[in-house]
Amino acid sequence: MKPIGLYVHIPFCYKKCPYCDFYSLCNNEDIMDKYTESICKDAAFWSNKLRRKADTLYLGGGTPNLLGSERLYKIISILKEKFCIDDNSEITIEVNPESYNSFKIENLINIGVNRISIGMQSINKIELEKLERRHSVEDITKTIRIARGSGIKNISLDIMLGISEQTKNSLKETINFCVSNQVDHISAYILKIEKGTLYYKNKKELTLPDEDEVSSLYLYTCDELRRHGFIQYEISNFARQGKESKHNLKYWKCEEYLGLGPSAHSFINGKRFYYSSNLNEYIKSKKILHDAEGGSEEEYIMLNLRLSNGINYVEFKNRFGYEFPSKYYDKAQKYQKYNIINITDNSISLTPQGFLLSNKLISDIIY
Ligand code: SF4
Repeated sequence: MKPIGLYVHIPFCYKKCPYCDFYSLCNNEDIMDKYTESICKDAAFWSNKLRRKADTLYLGGGTPNLLGSERLYKIISILKEKFCIDDNSEITIEVNPESYNSFKIENLINIGVNRISIGMQSINKIELEKLERRHSVEDITKTIRIARGSGIKNISLDIMLGISEQTKNSLKETINFCVSNQVDHISAYILKIEKGTLYYKNKKELTLPDEDEVSSLYLYTCDELRRHGFIQYEISNFARQGKESKHNLKYWKCEEYLGLGPSAHSFINGKRFYYSSNLNEYIKSKKILHDAEGGSEEEYIMLNLRLSNGINYVEFKNRFGYEFPSKYYDKAQKYQKYNIINITDNSISLTPQGFLLSNKLISDIIY
């Protein structure tokens, strides 16, 4: 059986950012100890139940580095042991530059951490203030320097598009910062106003760029990063050759993964399930909530169309045992002349212009 991916949600942050809808709470030492124990117990439970190997581990959040090196070491060690994660596996940790000194990355190198993803968002001071992020450009530079000095060879930066007062020029400076720091991977997310966030509550007061401006920032990012040698391999993700996130590729390729921690989702043996977004409930009972069945033809098409390579007909046949149905091909064909879909003898994929319309396009092709 193919190894699975493992995700551990670390739900602690110094302060909630006004646009963020990830599950996180303010950190506190006592609860972090209990949480570490709880994750270790859950790892033992699932390893016993599934008896599977894993070849990627992603510690996301929240702000995983707030847990500190000792607790992280404990979690990673137990997961490595229980899921037979070997030295060639990808082990990523998300790091928030405001608190880069809350842990020592060098202490995690010998346990196998080999990739970090830094929540940078922008290098523009006004944009960082608008997002209420507490880090400075110096914090980002230090985080990169420490990671590299410790031996991390795979560094990813998150940047955000569509921030209040963001312009092409300010975005260019942020992109140039990524390029001059020679990072391997960039995730460029469009700011979305999600329900339940402070931004959502105050959305009338926000002065965000309009849809056309955001589209133009997105296409500019795709062009600039391509010009600098990054390969766009997913709607929001760009990498140097061979530095694509192996873990995240499992999500988009509809492969199996197990998520531990409140709000973490899993897809195993054709079933999708998740833990509720409640830390105390996770620590006490680890109640699992069930989603629909997973891995259907429609779901596979929907996820793979997020990738620049799109749907490969041979891979589709290998997975489902029959040819790629012509009904999808026929629907996709009518969009080809608008430069939003690419159809070749082997595949169907969206172009960057198509990615901007991906929700509508994908649902039109499927339904
Ligand atoms: S630091 Fe990251 S996870 Fe925490 S609230 Fe801000 S955006 Fe969300």
